[in-house]
Amino acid sequence: MIYLDHAATTSMYTEAVRQMLPYFTRQYYNPSGGYEAGTKVHSILEEVRGFLAQEIHALPEEIYFTSGGTEGDNWAFFNTIRNYAWKGRHIITTQIEHHAVLHTCHFLETQGFDITYLPVNNEGLVEPDVLRAAIRPDTILISVMAANNEIGTLQPLEEIGALAKEKEILFHTDAVQFFGHIPIYVDAMHIDMMSVSAHKFGGPKGVGFFYARRNISMSPLLFGGSQEDNLRAGTENVAGIVGMGEAARISVSHRQQHFEHEKRLRDYLGEKIFSDIPNVHLNGSVNNRLPGNLNLRFDGVEAHALIALLELNGIYVSGGSACTTSHQEPSHVLMALGLSPVQAESSIRITIGYDNTIQEMNYVFRCIKKCVEQLRNL
Ligand code: PLP
Repeated sequence: MIYLDHAATTSMYTEAVRQMLPYFTRQYYNPSGGYEAGTKVHSILEEVRGFLAQEIHALPEEIYFTSGGTEGDNWAFFNTIRNYAWKGRHIITTQIEHHAVLHTCHFLETQGFDITYLPVNNEGLVEPDVLRAAIRPDTILISVMAANNEIGTLQPLEEIGALAKEKEILFHTDAVQFFGHIPIYVDAMHIDMMSVSAHKFGGPKGVGFFYARRNISMSPLLFGGSQEDNLRAGTENVAGIVGMGEAARISVSHRQQHFEHEKRLRDYLGEKIFSDIPNVHLNGSVNNRLPGNLNLRFDGVEAHALIALLELNGIYVSGGSACTTSHQEPSHVLMALGLSPVQAESSIRITIGYDNTIQEMNYVFRCIKKCVEQLRNL
């Protein structure tokens, strides 16, 4: 199979898997065990924490290990409402967030919070003026994702963060699709809270980290033991955290090389498709997008049929985010760009990884051309 769904998840780096293995067997100790073996495991976790902190230009005590992006997104919102509701009950987010944010917001609406879902422009970008106009005296949180999982749009984080800071409002970003691919400077971007997930950059599923600036008030999402500075109870996912640390190390050390490789393949495939297949459109931004992301709309083609035909030809792509493919609703992200439901349902998402090759792109192009022609001639 040719895997072109890296936004859904990535395969793990072999070295990250290798480094995890001893923590299931020889070094299975609980990091909270007071004896030497436990303390050693604990110190490994602290090493990973230190590395992740350094990578985003934060402090180790600002990093909390979590189960992944969904938990981080939930924590950002529940932490804010628990500690800052006295200031106000208005929250700003965008129409194109992941459901981990949107469904949390829907719940908060039932609890008396007022949520503004900012529109985006036709490239999927939040316009800072639109954000500025939405801010109210009772706004307590702005949550805007760093990179979109469907169309790969990269938001102007520094501008958004600066605006939040100017207005003294907390700024959370879902950086699940961003971390490991693009450098993060939490101070320059004025990020107060950030969610990251390991399985999007060659690490294991079910583990991630949450960044929270040290001067913000914090409450736990889960209550129990004293792990993670009493803020995230539960025995740490030691092997997962080790795997995440190694995947982060590899991603970061190859970041530029992977970025250029993915972009080259993406542009190569895109150019072939646009020059040889009529009535194809790019959804999202041409310039402000993740290097491996190609979200394409084929007029007159039903995406689910194209996806199924491509699979028969040995190619995995998707029709939107992995979390929504079981839903029959057209993508909320594409609808927010102004597409009609029919246009949204004519769109596929191709997300290229560092291990894809140019030969694969040639084959993928030929298959897409053949399958689109076949479907248009039905
Ligand atoms: N946020 C974004 C942008 C995502 O793409 C995903 C995963 O698809 C998540 C959050 C959820 O992350 P996790 O699968 O680690 O819970």
